[in-house]
Amino acid sequence: MKQIIQQLKNSRSVLIASHINPDGDALGSLLALGLAMEALDIKATLYNESDIPAVYRFLPEIDRIQNQISRVHAYETAIILDCSNLDRIGRATDIVTQIPMVINIDHHTTNTRFGERHLIDNKACATVELVFRLLKEMAIPISTAMATSIYTGIVTDTGSFRFSNTNASAFAICNEMVQLGVKPIHIAQHLYGSYSLGRIKLLNQALESIEISNNGSLSLMTLTQKMLKETGTQPGDAEGLIHYARRIEDVKMAALIQEQANGRKYNAGEKNYHVSLRSDGSIDVAAIASTFGGGGHPSAAGFSIESTIKKIKETIKAIPELN
Ligand code: AMP
Ligand code: MN
Ligand code: MN
Repeated sequence: MKQIIQQLKNSRSVLIASHINPDGDALGSLLALGLAMEALDIKATLYNESDIPAVYRFLPEIDRIQNQISRVHAYETAIILDCSNLDRIGRATDIVTQIPMVINIDHHTTNTRFGERHLIDNKACATVELVFRLLKEMAIPISTAMATSIYTGIVTDTGSFRFSNTNASAFAICNEMVQLGVKPIHIAQHLYGSYSLGRIKLLNQALESIEISNNGSLSLMTLTQKMLKETGTQPGDAEGLIHYARRIEDVKMAALIQEQANGRKYNAGEKNYHVSLRSDGSIDVAAIASTFGGGGHPSAAGFSIESTIKKIKETIKAIPELN
């Protein structure tokens, strides 16, 4: 942490980025650290390749996040947040590899330890916990805007304090954020109480798609571009749907197979899919996702694959842990 702080203090211009299809932790850590850099008079470019999901647009300063960066800009330092590998930031990966100092701040068990400096702790409930520790170490005062981002990162990554990554720090930090002016009801309203009607209709279609197999231990959910179109929703509206598949009794692992938007077709109708995996704790889905080139946490992980829905389902059903 000391080396990271020294590096930041010596930088005039930093690039901060987080993973594609961002969640509350990816956006919360990006904003909290970005605002902190501003407090230190360091010029920070905040980057995320994807559209910001509607539920996160309430976050203060969210418009500071840009989805493009110029190749020519001379960044001295890059900070990559909530990414188990560098590719997770998407198209900007090759720009970042040209930046002399890459700082990797993350809490995934499958982190590949890319970059020159690491602040990696898989016991941290969220990447915002690590950002919070960094801000404390640097004695940067936490503004209400920063507190809102930190609180949101913890609430979303812990599934509102329900998942196995919920630790004492999750409560301690959130307590401090509330003392600093965060209103839990206000954030909960944005995150969970203001769904579009289309999102509820998408939920309906997603629930209809559920298939149970492997003696009840596996639950498969499917989401296609057609379903998004019919309900007028965006990929970000799919966040949280997989929990419905996971919470069915006896289910050990749930998989959400989600068709991606690039529209490219491959051999024999193959398309690009993102597969999200969740487990009840008895199966390490990070290890399973790793075998498909992805990663994540023991009970929440994912990977991308070019295939057909039928073949992906067969592959998942054949996973040894479920047989
Ligand atoms: P998701 O599949 O998007 O629901 O993500 C579940 C968890 O797995 C998150 O912590 C992600 O950051 C991680 N994850 C998802 N896809 C990948 C991937 N392709 N490579 C590495 N980690 C991933
Ligand atoms: Mn994340
Ligand atoms: Mn995270």
